[in-house]
Amino acid sequence: MTTLGHLINGVRVDDATRTQAVYNPSTGEVASRVSLASQATVEAAIEAAQAAFPAWRNTPPAKRARVMYRFKQLLEEHAEEICRLIGLEHGKITHDAKGELQRGIENVEYACGVPELLKGEHSKNVGPNIDSWSEFQPLGVVAGITPFNFPAMVPLWMYPMAIATGNTFVLKPSERDPTSTLYIAELALEAGLPAGVLNVVNGDKEAVDTLLDAPRVQAVSFVGSTPIADYIYGRASAHGKRCQALGGAKNHAIVMPDADMDNVVDSLTGAAFGSSGERCMALSVAVAVGDAAADALVTKMRERLATLKVGPHFDESNDFGPVITQAHQEKVCGYIDSAEAQGAEIVVDGRGVQVPGFENGFYVGGTLIDRVTPEMTCYLEEIFGPVLLVVRVDTMQEAMTLIDDHEYGNGTCIYTRDGEAARYFSDHIQVGMVGINVPLPVPVSYHSFGGWKRSLFGDLSAYGPDAVRFYTKRKTITQRWPSAGVREGAQFSFPS
Ligand code: NAD
Repeated sequence: MTTLGHLINGVRVDDATRTQAVYNPSTGEVASRVSLASQATVEAAIEAAQAAFPAWRNTPPAKRARVMYRFKQLLEEHAEEICRLIGLEHGKITHDAKGELQRGIENVEYACGVPELLKGEHSKNVGPNIDSWSEFQPLGVVAGITPFNFPAMVPLWMYPMAIATGNTFVLKPSERDPTSTLYIAELALEAGLPAGVLNVVNGDKEAVDTLLDAPRVQAVSFVGSTPIADYIYGRASAHGKRCQALGGAKNHAIVMPDADMDNVVDSLTGAAFGSSGERCMALSVAVAVGDAAADALVTKMRERLATLKVGPHFDESNDFGPVITQAHQEKVCGYIDSAEAQGAEIVVDGRGVQVPGFENGFYVGGTLIDRVTPEMTCYLEEIFGPVLLVVRVDTMQEAMTLIDDHEYGNGTCIYTRDGEAARYFSDHIQVGMVGINVPLPVPVSYHSFGGWKRSLFGDLSAYGPDAVRFYTKRKTITQRWPSAGVREGAQFSFPS
Protein backbone atom coordinates (compact mmCIF):
# COMPACT_ATOMS: atom_id res chain seq x y z
CA MET A 1 0.00 0.00 0.00
CA THR A 2 1.39 3.41 -0.96
CA THR A 3 1.87 6.21 1.55
CA LEU A 4 1.50 9.59 -0.05
CA GLY A 5 4.19 12.07 0.96
CA HIS A 6 4.76 15.74 0.22
CA LEU A 7 6.12 17.85 -2.61
CA ILE A 8 8.82 20.21 -1.38
CA ASN A 9 11.29 22.15 -3.50
CA GLY A 10 10.33 20.16 -6.56
CA VAL A 11 10.78 16.66 -5.12
CA ARG A 12 8.63 14.12 -3.30
CA VAL A 13 9.49 13.99 0.38
CA ASP A 14 8.45 11.27 2.82
CA ASP A 15 7.71 12.04 6.44
CA ALA A 16 5.85 8.95 7.50
CA THR A 17 6.09 9.35 11.28
CA ARG A 18 2.34 9.88 11.42
CA THR A 19 0.04 8.55 8.70
CA GLN A 20 -3.69 8.28 8.13
CA ALA A 21 -5.84 5.95 6.01
CA VAL A 22 -7.39 7.29 2.80
CA TYR A 23 -10.56 5.42 1.85
CA ASN A 24 -12.17 4.43 -1.40
CA PRO A 25 -15.69 5.43 -0.32
CA SER A 26 -17.30 3.46 -3.15
CA THR A 27 -16.08 0.18 -1.61
CA GLY A 28 -15.31 1.23 1.96
CA GLU A 29 -11.77 -0.14 1.61
CA VAL A 30 -8.57 1.66 2.49
CA ALA A 31 -7.12 2.92 -0.83
CA SER A 32 -3.81 4.26 0.46
CA ARG A 33 -2.25 6.10 3.37
CA VAL A 34 -1.21 9.72 3.62
CA SER A 35 1.63 11.20 5.65
CA LEU A 36 0.71 13.86 8.16
CA ALA A 37 3.46 16.45 8.00
CA SER A 38 5.35 17.41 11.12
CA GLN A 39 6.12 21.01 11.96
CA ALA A 40 9.67 20.53 10.63
CA THR A 41 8.38 19.28 7.26
CA VAL A 42 6.03 22.25 6.89
CA GLU A 43 8.85 24.60 7.80
CA ALA A 44 11.02 23.00 5.10
CA ALA A 45 8.24 23.75 2.59
CA ILE A 46 8.01 27.36 3.75
CA GLU A 47 11.81 27.65 3.50
CA ALA A 48 11.72 26.33 -0.07
CA ALA A 49 8.96 28.78 -1.00
CA GLN A 50 10.84 31.66 0.61
CA ALA A 51 14.04 30.79 -1.26
CA ALA A 52 12.20 30.59 -4.60
CA PHE A 53 10.41 33.91 -4.14
CA PRO A 54 13.04 36.53 -5.21
CA ALA A 55 13.67 34.97 -8.64
CA TRP A 56 10.01 34.14 -9.25
CA ARG A 57 8.91 37.66 -8.26
CA ASN A 58 11.29 39.06 -10.86
CA THR A 59 10.23 36.67 -13.61
CA PRO A 60 8.28 38.71 -16.19
CA PRO A 61 4.51 38.17 -15.86
CA ALA A 62 4.32 37.04 -19.49
CA LYS A 63 6.77 34.21 -18.72
CA ARG A 64 4.81 33.26 -15.62
CA ALA A 65 1.69 33.20 -17.80
CA ARG A 66 3.38 30.90 -20.29
CA VAL A 67 3.77 28.30 -17.53
CA MET A 68 0.02 28.58 -16.92
CA TYR A 69 -0.72 27.97 -20.61
CA ARG A 70 1.37 24.79 -20.48
CA PHE A 71 -0.27 23.80 -17.19
CA LYS A 72 -3.73 24.12 -18.74
CA GLN A 73 -2.63 21.89 -21.62
CA LEU A 74 -1.26 19.25 -19.24
CA LEU A 75 -4.46 19.29 -17.17
CA GLU A 76 -6.45 18.59 -20.32
CA GLU A 77 -4.07 15.87 -21.49
CA HIS A 78 -4.22 14.12 -18.10
CA ALA A 79 -7.91 14.70 -17.41
CA GLU A 80 -8.81 11.03 -17.46
CA GLU A 81 -6.23 10.09 -14.81
CA ILE A 82 -7.14 13.12 -12.66
CA CYS A 83 -10.84 12.20 -12.73
CA ARG A 84 -10.01 8.59 -11.90
CA LEU A 85 -8.05 9.69 -8.84
CA ILE A 86 -10.79 12.12 -7.75
CA GLY A 87 -13.39 9.36 -8.04
CA LEU A 88 -11.28 6.79 -6.25
CA GLU A 89 -10.83 8.85 -3.08
CA HIS A 90 -13.78 11.24 -3.15
CA GLY A 91 -16.39 8.93 -4.65
CA LYS A 92 -17.91 11.42 -7.09
CA ILE A 93 -19.02 9.95 -10.42
CA THR A 94 -16.61 10.44 -13.32
CA HIS A 95 -18.96 12.87 -15.14
CA ASP A 96 -19.03 15.03 -12.01
CA ALA A 97 -15.23 14.86 -11.62
CA LYS A 98 -14.90 16.06 -15.22
CA GLY A 99 -17.07 19.08 -14.41
CA GLU A 100 -15.00 19.85 -11.33
CA LEU A 101 -11.78 19.68 -13.31
CA GLN A 102 -13.17 21.90 -16.06
CA ARG A 103 -14.08 24.55 -13.47
CA GLY A 104 -10.54 24.32 -12.11
CA ILE A 105 -9.00 24.67 -15.58
CA GLU A 106 -11.03 27.85 -16.13
CA ASN A 107 -9.15 29.41 -13.22
CA VAL A 108 -5.85 28.51 -14.87
CA GLU A 109 -7.13 30.15 -18.06
CA TYR A 110 -7.91 33.32 -16.11
CA ALA A 111 -4.40 33.27 -14.63
CA CYS A 112 -3.01 33.16 -18.19
CA GLY A 113 -4.16 36.77 -18.51
CA VAL A 114 -1.97 37.94 -15.64
CA PRO A 115 0.14 40.44 -17.63
CA GLU A 116 -3.08 42.30 -18.45
CA LEU A 117 -4.42 41.94 -14.89
CA LEU A 118 -1.24 43.37 -13.34
CA LYS A 119 -1.02 46.46 -15.55
CA GLY A 120 -1.75 48.79 -12.66
CA GLU A 121 -2.91 52.41 -12.74
CA HIS A 122 -1.01 55.44 -14.01
CA SER A 123 -1.66 59.18 -13.76
CA LYS A 124 0.50 61.74 -15.45
CA ASN A 125 0.87 65.25 -14.03
CA VAL A 126 -0.84 64.72 -10.68
CA GLY A 127 1.06 67.93 -9.81
CA PRO A 128 3.42 70.09 -11.85
CA ASN A 129 5.75 67.60 -13.57
CA ILE A 130 4.76 64.97 -11.08
CA ASP A 131 3.56 61.51 -12.15
CA SER A 132 2.02 58.87 -9.98
CA TRP A 133 1.18 55.22 -10.46
CA SER A 134 0.02 52.22 -8.51
CA GLU A 135 1.47 48.78 -9.03
CA PHE A 136 0.50 45.45 -7.55
CA GLN A 137 3.35 43.56 -5.97
CA PRO A 138 3.31 39.94 -4.82
CA LEU A 139 3.15 39.26 -1.08
CA GLY A 140 5.80 36.52 -0.79
CA VAL A 141 4.98 33.06 0.57
CA VAL A 142 1.25 32.33 0.54
CA ALA A 143 -0.51 29.27 1.98
CA GLY A 144 -3.68 27.48 0.88
CA ILE A 145 -5.72 25.02 2.97
CA THR A 146 -8.41 23.11 1.10
CA PRO A 147 -11.43 20.85 1.77
CA PHE A 148 -12.15 17.30 0.61
CA ASN A 149 -15.12 18.03 -1.59
CA PHE A 150 -13.27 19.56 -4.56
CA PRO A 151 -9.74 18.15 -4.41
CA ALA A 152 -8.92 19.45 -7.90
CA MET A 153 -10.99 22.61 -8.26
CA VAL A 154 -10.53 24.43 -4.95
CA PRO A 155 -6.71 24.28 -4.97
CA LEU A 156 -6.95 25.59 -8.56
CA TRP A 157 -9.01 28.52 -7.25
CA MET A 158 -5.91 29.48 -5.29
CA TYR A 159 -2.42 28.74 -6.49
CA PRO A 160 -2.60 29.50 -10.25
CA MET A 161 -3.44 33.13 -9.53
CA ALA A 162 -1.18 33.38 -6.46
CA ILE A 163 1.74 32.06 -8.49
CA ALA A 164 0.94 33.97 -11.67
CA THR A 165 0.99 37.22 -9.68
CA GLY A 166 4.53 36.38 -8.48
CA ASN A 167 4.03 34.68 -5.11
CA THR A 168 5.29 31.27 -4.04
CA PHE A 169 2.89 28.81 -2.47
CA VAL A 170 2.50 26.10 0.16
CA LEU A 171 -0.66 24.04 -0.26
CA LYS A 172 -2.17 21.85 2.48
CA PRO A 173 -4.85 19.71 0.78
CA SER A 174 -7.52 17.68 2.52
CA GLU A 175 -6.05 14.58 4.12
CA ARG A 176 -9.17 12.65 3.11
CA ASP A 177 -8.54 12.67 -0.67
CA PRO A 178 -5.06 14.06 -1.33
CA THR A 179 -3.83 12.04 -4.32
CA SER A 180 -5.40 13.97 -7.22
CA THR A 181 -4.29 17.25 -5.64
CA LEU A 182 -0.67 16.12 -5.46
CA TYR A 183 -0.81 14.68 -8.98
CA ILE A 184 -2.05 18.03 -10.34
CA ALA A 185 0.67 19.94 -8.47
CA GLU A 186 3.27 17.74 -10.13
CA LEU A 187 1.77 18.67 -13.51
CA ALA A 188 2.25 22.35 -12.57
CA LEU A 189 5.93 21.64 -11.97
CA GLU A 190 6.13 19.76 -15.25
CA ALA A 191 4.65 22.82 -16.93
CA GLY A 192 7.75 24.76 -15.92
CA LEU A 193 7.35 26.09 -12.38
CA PRO A 194 10.80 26.37 -10.81
CA ALA A 195 11.42 24.21 -7.73
CA GLY A 196 10.02 25.76 -4.56
CA VAL A 197 7.41 27.94 -6.28
CA LEU A 198 4.66 25.41 -5.49
CA ASN A 199 4.98 23.06 -2.52
CA VAL A 200 2.42 20.60 -1.16
CA VAL A 201 2.37 19.37 2.43
CA ASN A 202 -0.15 16.74 3.37
CA GLY A 203 -1.31 16.82 6.93
CA ASP A 204 -3.77 17.78 9.59
CA LYS A 205 -4.05 20.41 12.32
CA GLU A 206 -0.32 20.31 13.09
CA ALA A 207 0.53 21.31 9.50
CA VAL A 208 -2.22 23.95 9.40
CA ASP A 209 -1.19 25.53 12.69
CA THR A 210 2.44 25.68 11.56
CA LEU A 211 1.36 27.60 8.45
CA LEU A 212 -0.87 29.94 10.46
CA ASP A 213 1.88 30.80 12.94
CA ALA A 214 4.85 31.00 10.55
CA PRO A 215 6.10 34.60 10.29
CA ARG A 216 7.26 34.04 6.69
CA VAL A 217 3.76 33.13 5.46
CA GLN A 218 2.18 36.39 4.38
CA ALA A 219 -1.35 35.30 3.54
CA VAL A 220 -3.68 32.34 3.94
CA SER A 221 -6.52 31.22 1.69
CA PHE A 222 -8.82 28.69 3.32
CA VAL A 223 -11.89 26.80 2.13
CA GLY A 224 -13.71 24.40 4.44
CA SER A 225 -16.31 24.25 7.18
CA THR A 226 -17.35 27.36 9.11
CA PRO A 227 -16.00 26.44 12.57
CA ILE A 228 -12.55 25.84 11.06
CA ALA A 229 -12.81 28.92 8.81
CA ASP A 230 -13.57 31.03 11.87
CA TYR A 231 -10.58 29.54 13.69
CA ILE A 232 -8.24 29.98 10.70
CA TYR A 233 -9.28 33.59 10.17
CA GLY A 234 -8.78 34.46 13.85
CA ARG A 235 -5.41 32.78 14.21
CA ALA A 236 -3.99 33.97 10.87
CA SER A 237 -5.18 37.54 11.54
CA ALA A 238 -3.71 37.48 15.05
CA HIS A 239 -0.37 36.79 13.38
CA GLY A 240 -0.81 39.77 11.07
CA LYS A 241 -1.54 37.77 7.96
CA ARG A 242 -3.97 38.60 5.22
CA CYS A 243 -6.66 35.91 5.30
CA GLN A 244 -9.70 34.83 3.34
CA ALA A 245 -11.57 31.90 4.89
CA LEU A 246 -14.57 30.47 3.05
CA GLY A 247 -16.91 28.40 5.16
CA GLY A 248 -20.03 26.28 5.02
CA ALA A 249 -23.49 26.88 3.69
CA LYS A 250 -27.20 26.23 3.81
CA ASN A 251 -28.46 27.24 0.40
CA HIS A 252 -32.19 27.88 0.03
CA ALA A 253 -34.26 27.87 -3.14
CA ILE A 254 -37.52 29.81 -3.05
CA VAL A 255 -40.17 28.07 -5.11
CA MET A 256 -42.83 30.63 -6.03
CA PRO A 257 -46.37 29.50 -6.90
CA ASP A 258 -45.90 30.61 -10.53
CA ALA A 259 -42.71 28.59 -11.06
CA ASP A 260 -42.50 25.96 -13.81
CA MET A 261 -42.65 22.99 -11.43
CA ASP A 262 -41.18 20.39 -13.83
CA ASN A 263 -38.18 22.62 -14.35
CA VAL A 264 -37.91 23.20 -10.59
CA VAL A 265 -37.91 19.46 -9.90
CA ASP A 266 -35.20 18.69 -12.48
CA SER A 267 -33.14 21.60 -11.38
CA LEU A 268 -33.44 20.91 -7.64
CA THR A 269 -32.71 17.22 -8.11
CA GLY A 270 -29.34 17.95 -9.71
CA ALA A 271 -28.51 20.75 -7.27
CA ALA A 272 -29.51 18.91 -4.09
CA PHE A 273 -28.25 15.40 -4.85
CA GLY A 274 -25.39 15.94 -7.34
CA SER A 275 -22.06 15.00 -5.74
CA SER A 276 -24.11 13.47 -2.88
CA GLY A 277 -24.93 16.99 -1.72
CA GLU A 278 -21.27 17.49 -0.78
CA ARG A 279 -21.00 20.88 -2.45
CA CYS A 280 -20.89 24.20 -0.66
CA MET A 281 -23.36 25.44 -3.29
CA ALA A 282 -25.69 22.43 -3.01
CA LEU A 283 -29.32 23.52 -2.71
CA SER A 284 -30.32 21.85 0.52
CA VAL A 285 -33.53 23.72 1.42
CA ALA A 286 -36.55 24.31 -0.82
CA VAL A 287 -38.79 27.03 0.56
CA ALA A 288 -42.19 26.59 -1.04
CA VAL A 289 -44.47 29.64 -1.05
CA GLY A 290 -48.01 28.43 -0.40
CA ASP A 291 -49.27 24.92 0.33
CA ALA A 292 -50.31 24.33 -3.28
CA ALA A 293 -46.74 24.88 -4.49
CA ALA A 294 -45.38 22.77 -1.59
CA ASP A 295 -47.75 19.87 -2.31
CA ALA A 296 -46.96 19.90 -6.02
CA LEU A 297 -43.24 20.09 -5.31
CA VAL A 298 -43.24 17.22 -2.81
CA THR A 299 -45.38 14.99 -5.05
CA LYS A 300 -43.15 15.49 -8.07
CA MET A 301 -39.91 15.27 -6.08
CA ARG A 302 -41.02 11.96 -4.57
CA GLU A 303 -41.58 10.56 -8.08
CA ARG A 304 -38.25 11.95 -9.27
CA LEU A 305 -36.29 10.55 -6.34
CA ALA A 306 -37.54 7.05 -7.16
CA THR A 307 -35.49 7.25 -10.37
CA LEU A 308 -32.23 8.39 -8.73
CA LYS A 309 -29.33 6.02 -9.11
CA VAL A 310 -26.66 5.91 -6.42
CA GLY A 311 -23.56 3.75 -6.78
CA PRO A 312 -19.81 3.59 -7.28
CA HIS A 313 -17.89 6.44 -8.86
CA PHE A 314 -16.68 4.60 -11.96
CA ASP A 315 -20.17 3.74 -13.25
CA GLU A 316 -21.21 6.79 -15.23
CA SER A 317 -24.85 5.72 -15.23
CA ASN A 318 -25.00 6.62 -11.53
CA ASP A 319 -26.34 10.05 -10.59
CA PHE A 320 -24.21 10.32 -7.48
CA GLY A 321 -21.84 8.27 -5.40
CA PRO A 322 -21.08 7.63 -1.74
CA VAL A 323 -20.29 10.26 0.88
CA ILE A 324 -16.69 10.71 1.92
CA THR A 325 -16.31 8.53 5.04
CA GLN A 326 -18.26 6.17 7.24
CA ALA A 327 -18.25 8.80 9.98
CA HIS A 328 -19.83 11.27 7.57
CA GLN A 329 -22.40 8.68 6.45
CA GLU A 330 -23.38 8.24 10.10
CA LYS A 331 -23.52 12.01 10.62
CA VAL A 332 -25.83 12.53 7.62
CA CYS A 333 -28.12 9.71 8.79
CA GLY A 334 -28.05 11.25 12.26
CA TYR A 335 -29.52 14.46 10.82
CA ILE A 336 -32.33 12.45 9.22
CA ASP A 337 -32.94 10.74 12.59
CA SER A 338 -33.10 14.14 14.29
CA ALA A 339 -35.55 15.51 11.72
CA GLU A 340 -37.83 12.55 12.33
CA ALA A 341 -37.55 12.90 16.11
CA GLN A 342 -38.29 16.62 15.92
CA GLY A 343 -41.50 16.14 13.94
CA ALA A 344 -40.58 16.56 10.27
CA GLU A 345 -42.01 14.18 7.67
CA ILE A 346 -39.51 11.82 6.00
CA VAL A 347 -41.01 11.55 2.52
CA VAL A 348 -38.16 9.59 0.93
CA ASP A 349 -35.67 7.91 3.26
CA GLY A 350 -32.09 7.31 2.12
CA ARG A 351 -30.93 5.70 5.36
CA GLY A 352 -29.78 2.13 5.03
CA VAL A 353 -29.61 2.15 1.24
CA GLN A 354 -27.80 -0.89 -0.14
CA VAL A 355 -25.77 -0.88 -3.36
CA PRO A 356 -25.45 -4.51 -4.52
CA GLY A 357 -21.79 -5.55 -4.64
CA PHE A 358 -20.72 -2.48 -2.68
CA GLU A 359 -22.31 -3.19 0.68
CA ASN A 360 -19.42 -1.63 2.60
CA GLY A 361 -19.43 1.64 0.62
CA PHE A 362 -20.45 4.84 2.40
CA TYR A 363 -23.79 5.34 0.66
CA VAL A 364 -26.77 7.45 1.64
CA GLY A 365 -29.74 7.45 -0.71
CA GLY A 366 -31.50 10.61 -1.87
CA THR A 367 -33.66 11.84 1.01
CA LEU A 368 -36.61 14.24 0.98
CA ILE A 369 -37.91 15.74 4.23
CA ASP A 370 -41.10 17.82 4.31
CA ARG A 371 -42.56 20.15 6.96
CA VAL A 372 -39.18 21.20 8.28
CA THR A 373 -39.29 24.20 10.61
CA PRO A 374 -36.52 26.71 11.36
CA GLU A 375 -35.72 25.53 14.89
CA MET A 376 -34.96 21.95 13.81
CA THR A 377 -31.35 20.78 13.93
CA CYS A 378 -31.51 19.57 10.31
CA TYR A 379 -32.43 23.14 9.27
CA LEU A 380 -29.93 25.01 11.41
CA GLU A 381 -26.84 22.98 10.51
CA GLU A 382 -25.13 22.10 7.26
CA ILE A 383 -25.84 18.42 6.52
CA PHE A 384 -23.51 18.09 3.49
CA GLY A 385 -25.27 14.99 2.21
CA PRO A 386 -27.98 13.99 -0.31
CA VAL A 387 -30.82 15.42 1.74
CA LEU A 388 -33.35 18.02 0.57
CA LEU A 389 -35.50 19.79 3.15
CA VAL A 390 -38.82 21.41 2.34
CA VAL A 391 -39.96 24.38 4.43
CA ARG A 392 -43.48 25.71 3.87
CA VAL A 393 -44.20 29.46 4.10
CA ASP A 394 -47.10 31.70 3.06
CA THR A 395 -45.33 34.63 1.40
CA MET A 396 -42.17 35.46 -0.50
CA GLN A 397 -41.24 37.95 2.21
CA GLU A 398 -41.46 35.20 4.81
CA ALA A 399 -39.16 33.06 2.64
CA MET A 400 -36.66 35.90 2.33
CA THR A 401 -36.68 36.56 6.09
CA LEU A 402 -35.95 32.90 6.68
CA ILE A 403 -32.92 33.07 4.38
CA ASP A 404 -31.69 36.35 5.87
CA ASP A 405 -31.97 34.99 9.40
CA HIS A 406 -29.83 31.92 8.66
CA GLU A 407 -26.22 32.13 9.81
CA TYR A 408 -24.95 31.15 6.36
CA GLY A 409 -25.18 33.27 3.23
CA ASN A 410 -23.34 31.41 0.50
CA GLY A 411 -25.79 30.82 -2.36
CA THR A 412 -29.51 31.05 -2.98
CA CYS A 413 -31.95 30.89 -5.84
CA ILE A 414 -35.52 31.83 -6.74
CA TYR A 415 -37.76 29.96 -9.15
CA THR A 416 -40.40 32.24 -10.63
CA ARG A 417 -41.76 33.66 -13.87
CA ASP A 418 -42.24 37.06 -12.24
CA GLY A 419 -39.41 39.43 -13.18
CA GLU A 420 -40.37 42.00 -10.58
CA ALA A 421 -40.27 39.44 -7.76
CA ALA A 422 -36.92 38.10 -9.01
CA ARG A 423 -35.46 41.61 -9.18
CA TYR A 424 -36.64 42.43 -5.66
CA PHE A 425 -35.20 39.15 -4.40
CA SER A 426 -31.76 39.60 -5.97
CA ASP A 427 -31.60 43.22 -4.82
CA HIS A 428 -32.43 42.60 -1.16
CA ILE A 429 -31.45 39.08 -0.16
CA GLN A 430 -28.50 38.86 2.26
CA VAL A 431 -26.58 36.21 0.35
CA GLY A 432 -23.40 36.50 -1.73
CA MET A 433 -24.30 34.44 -4.81
CA VAL A 434 -27.82 34.58 -6.19
CA GLY A 435 -29.53 32.58 -8.92
CA ILE A 436 -32.70 33.43 -10.78
CA ASN A 437 -34.03 30.15 -12.14
CA VAL A 438 -30.38 29.04 -11.87
CA PRO A 439 -29.88 26.49 -9.09
CA LEU A 440 -26.11 26.65 -8.64
CA PRO A 441 -25.11 30.27 -9.27
CA VAL A 442 -21.38 29.57 -9.07
CA PRO A 443 -19.62 32.59 -10.57
CA VAL A 444 -17.44 31.92 -13.62
CA SER A 445 -13.67 32.28 -13.26
CA TYR A 446 -13.56 35.93 -14.35
CA HIS A 447 -15.97 36.92 -11.58
CA SER A 448 -15.22 35.99 -7.95
CA PHE A 449 -16.71 33.45 -5.56
CA GLY A 450 -17.77 34.32 -2.05
CA GLY A 451 -20.65 34.05 0.36
CA TRP A 452 -21.84 36.49 3.00
CA LYS A 453 -22.35 36.22 6.74
CA ARG A 454 -20.62 33.17 8.26
CA SER A 455 -19.92 31.67 4.84
CA LEU A 456 -16.89 33.93 4.32
CA PHE A 457 -14.48 35.52 6.77
CA GLY A 458 -12.44 38.27 5.15
CA ASP A 459 -12.95 41.07 2.67
CA LEU A 460 -12.08 39.49 -0.65
CA SER A 461 -13.72 36.54 -2.38
CA ALA A 462 -11.95 33.62 -4.03
CA TYR A 463 -10.56 33.60 -7.60
CA GLY A 464 -11.27 36.09 -10.38
CA PRO A 465 -10.56 39.81 -9.91
CA ASP A 466 -10.67 39.55 -6.09
CA ALA A 467 -7.85 36.98 -6.19
CA VAL A 468 -5.62 39.42 -8.08
CA ARG A 469 -6.14 41.89 -5.23
CA PHE A 470 -5.85 39.27 -2.49
CA TYR A 471 -2.51 37.94 -3.70
CA THR A 472 -0.93 41.36 -4.32
CA LYS A 473 -0.36 44.52 -2.35
CA ARG A 474 -0.73 47.93 -3.84
CA LYS A 475 2.25 50.23 -3.94
CA THR A 476 1.73 53.80 -5.11
CA ILE A 477 4.75 55.67 -6.40
CA THR A 478 4.89 59.42 -6.95
CA GLN A 479 7.85 60.81 -8.88
CA ARG A 480 9.34 64.06 -9.99
CA TRP A 481 12.64 64.74 -11.68
CA PRO A 482 13.42 68.37 -10.86
CA SER A 483 15.75 69.98 -13.36
CA ALA A 484 18.82 71.65 -12.01
CA GLY A 485 18.14 75.11 -10.64
CA VAL A 486 14.42 74.59 -9.86
CA ARG A 487 14.13 74.73 -6.10
CA GLU A 488 10.92 75.51 -4.28
CA GLY A 489 12.32 75.64 -0.77
CA ALA A 490 10.70 73.97 2.22
CA GLN A 491 6.92 73.42 1.92
CA PHE A 492 5.07 73.49 5.25
CA SER A 493 1.55 72.92 3.97
CA PHE A 494 -0.18 71.02 1.19
CA PRO A 495 -0.39 73.09 -2.01
CA SER A 496 -3.71 74.94 -2.14
P1 NAD B 1 -12.98 20.93 7.05
O1 NAD B 1 -13.21 22.28 7.63
O2 NAD B 1 -13.14 19.75 7.91
O3 NAD B 1 -11.48 20.84 6.48
C1 NAD B 1 -10.94 21.82 5.62
C2 NAD B 1 -9.44 21.87 5.82
O4 NAD B 1 -9.17 22.28 7.16
C3 NAD B 1 -8.74 20.54 5.60
O5 NAD B 1 -7.55 20.77 4.88
C4 NAD B 1 -8.45 20.06 7.02
O6 NAD B 1 -7.28 19.31 7.12
C5 NAD B 1 -8.32 21.36 7.80
N1 NAD B 1 -8.73 21.22 9.20
C6 NAD B 1 -9.76 20.45 9.66
N2 NAD B 1 -9.87 20.57 10.99
C7 NAD B 1 -8.90 21.43 11.38
C8 NAD B 1 -8.51 21.96 12.65
N3 NAD B 1 -9.14 21.62 13.77
N4 NAD B 1 -7.49 22.83 12.69
C9 NAD B 1 -6.85 23.18 11.57
N5 NAD B 1 -7.16 22.70 10.34
C10 NAD B 1 -8.18 21.85 10.24
O7 NAD B 1 -13.90 20.84 5.74
P2 NAD B 1 -14.18 19.58 4.83
O8 NAD B 1 -15.06 18.63 5.57
O9 NAD B 1 -12.92 19.07 4.23
O10 NAD B 1 -15.01 20.26 3.65
C11 NAD B 1 -16.39 20.45 3.68
C12 NAD B 1 -16.74 21.83 4.15
O11 NAD B 1 -16.14 22.80 3.30
C13 NAD B 1 -18.23 22.11 4.09
O12 NAD B 1 -18.59 22.84 5.24
C14 NAD B 1 -18.39 22.96 2.84
O13 NAD B 1 -19.52 23.81 2.83
C15 NAD B 1 -17.13 23.74 2.88
N6 NAD B 1 -16.79 24.27 1.57
C16 NAD B 1 -16.97 25.61 1.37
C17 NAD B 1 -16.71 26.15 0.13
C18 NAD B 1 -16.89 27.61 -0.11
O14 NAD B 1 -16.45 28.06 -1.13
N7 NAD B 1 -17.52 28.35 0.77
C19 NAD B 1 -16.24 25.32 -0.91
C20 NAD B 1 -16.06 23.97 -0.66
C21 NAD B 1 -16.34 23.45 0.59
